[in-house]
Amino acid sequence: MSYFRPAIDAMTGYVPGEQPKPGTKIIKLNTNENPYPPSPDALNILRNLDSEWLRRYPDPFAREFCAAVSEALGVPADWIIVGNGSDDVLNVLVRACAEGGDRKVVYPMPTYVLYRTLAAMQPAEVVEVPYPQDFTLPIDDLVAANGAITFIASPNSPSGHSVPLDDLRTLARRVAGIVAIDEAYVDFAESSALPLVQEFENVIVLRTLSKGYSLAGLRMGFAVAHPKLLAGLFKVKDSYNIDAIATLVGAAAMRDQAYKNACAEKVKISRAKLTVDLKNLGFTVLDSQGNFVLATPPEGNAEQLYLGLKERGILVRYFKQPGLDNKLRISVGTDEQNQTLIEALVSLLK
Ligand SMILES: *Cc1c(COP(=O)(O)O)cnc(C)c1O
Repeated sequence: MSYFRPAIDAMTGYVPGEQPKPGTKIIKLNTNENPYPPSPDALNILRNLDSEWLRRYPDPFAREFCAAVSEALGVPADWIIVGNGSDDVLNVLVRACAEGGDRKVVYPMPTYVLYRTLAAMQPAEVVEVPYPQDFTLPIDDLVAANGAITFIASPNSPSGHSVPLDDLRTLARRVAGIVAIDEAYVDFAESSALPLVQEFENVIVLRTLSKGYSLAGLRMGFAVAHPKLLAGLFKVKDSYNIDAIATLVGAAAMRDQAYKNACAEKVKISRAKLTVDLKNLGFTVLDSQGNFVLATPPEGNAEQLYLGLKERGILVRYFKQPGLDNKLRISVGTDEQNQTLIEALVSLLK
């Protein structure tokens, strides 16, 4: 007899990108962290840490943080749910809304692998709808799949493309279930689907502080939706899912939009340069709205390149799965890091 439910025995656990020990001398371009430090205002909160914050339980609703989000994004504070990273909110969403074959999880492929993992542990049936070559949203097939939740990452990982607002609107109008728009990379993109939460009760937009705000280690994410949609999620989330320090540090980072935007601008300029440099080496590179690019090497030897780079102290992401196993996903680093990467690729391609 197994210790575990059949669904747990049957599933594969999520495999996060490698996280080398702090202090390891490595150029880390594998999990889309921001190469710049977090806002100085956020760091100041940590320097002035008050022991009372730790003695007492944190605010279950992280209201200080919600107030900062409300101000920054112009959404009412009671339209916000906060999570221990947006992965936590994704988890709560699947627990609350998906189950078996009647309440399916649907998403276009390729996309963020965690959606599949969360569905598998519920368990809920999954329908994976392939994106066409040009990455237009396969709306008819997504609607036909009739998900309790339809996940759309926009900008999508690993492709980097953004889904046009009109396509998301059409999808939201046509499905009965929830459309969850995962905007983890929105800070590097030209547009956002946030206005749709005002138009549709079944739309939830997820955001994170991990990428745009350089706070992946803090674990802060949130989602915006109609209070009617949030009501069920609040029943499921851990009471104290956001710690007291993260609430205050996150709020300070959220209030410093100018700093975040300045870092994002630098990343976007570096992304354009990295794209050109990779193309000059013969790579095929998709235009990206995220802080990473998906690049196909000239000779299709992606795994070899991944290993060669690793040997030289540069980590990029290699996905050993159909459709992606000839590609590398490369996070945009500082110009200096990107240049080191390009030089390493030049020598590996010789
Ligand atoms: C990074 C990422 C997340 C996770 O963000 P956290 O807030 O760090 O949990 C969610 N969705 C996508 C598509 C991501 O790339």
